[in-house]
Amino acid sequence: MEDRVNTVLVIDDNEVIRRLAKTLLTKRNYAVETAKNGQEGIEIAKRIKPQVILLDVMMPGMDGYEVCKRIKEDAEIADIPVIIVTSKTETFDRIHGLEIGAADYVMKPFDQGELLARIATQVKLKNLYDELQEKNRILEEMTRKDGLTDLFNRRYFQERIAEEFSRARRYDFPMSFIMFDIDHFKEINDSYGHQAGDDVLRNLARILVNHIRDVDVPARYGGEEFSLILPHTTLKNAVIFAERLREEVAKHPFLFHEKRIPVTISLGVAGIPDNNPSSCNELIRFADEALYRAKQAGRNRTVMYMRTTE
Ligand SMILES: [Mg+2]
Repeated sequence: MEDRVNTVLVIDDNEVIRRLAKTLLTKRNYAVETAKNGQEGIEIAKRIKPQVILLDVMMPGMDGYEVCKRIKEDAEIADIPVIIVTSKTETFDRIHGLEIGAADYVMKPFDQGELLARIATQVKLKNLYDELQEKNRILEEMTRKDGLTDLFNRRYFQERIAEEFSRARRYDFPMSFIMFDIDHFKEINDSYGHQAGDDVLRNLARILVNHIRDVDVPARYGGEEFSLILPHTTLKNAVIFAERLREEVAKHPFLFHEKRIPVTISLGVAGIPDNNPSSCNELIRFADEALYRAKQAGRNRTVMYMRTTE
């Protein structure tokens, strides 16, 4: 953070002012970009995302108020603080300036010390704001992710499957769901230790992520259980995918302290429209039942859900 170069964008139709501001701010280690009218200023702002915009009010064409309004209405650049620059001879409505979202204002001809102080304040606020946004983003990410595997957690999975289920129903798309777990995971923990067990979970998660599409939703369902939502995927294709994943896992060398740990998975697959579940919870239950049958049938296999008739 300390050595970040802060950028100031100066929008002013007067070349002398632009040059003056550039010289002054460059001396204070700001990177400076200039624009000679509002249109150009908005374009540059969108491209370089400066920490602060210094904006002249009186300009031919779009005046400073209009430019400020447009900046504040554009989500991409709305967070950039705007300092309005106005001359003492111009009638400047300070309240109006603040109303349209300006952060501060300075009078021309400007007192250099005052201008620098106001810019420094806005830069500092902007950087704090950016840091906070980044922290919030990380926090949000953390509340969705499983800490060990970096897959989505169960809570987020529940939200997503409900969404994907209703979307598939509404637009008549196919959608599939896979539930799988590691065969004899307890034995892996017992024979090699929990650290080895954690390694296996992490590596399995990586294999999974490497084989899915961006739209698929992989989650750690709990313990050694995983789930995968496959939007726009028929049951038949989901079974083909499940089999490929099973084979990949069976042949992958899971190593722990140079010892190879044999790892296999069992998978249950269910889907819309084939299984015609009445809710997303029923879809989950169908896949879970299929997984149970895969276990019963001897593990290391994929079972597609089929409704049993009494
Ligand atoms: Mg002007």
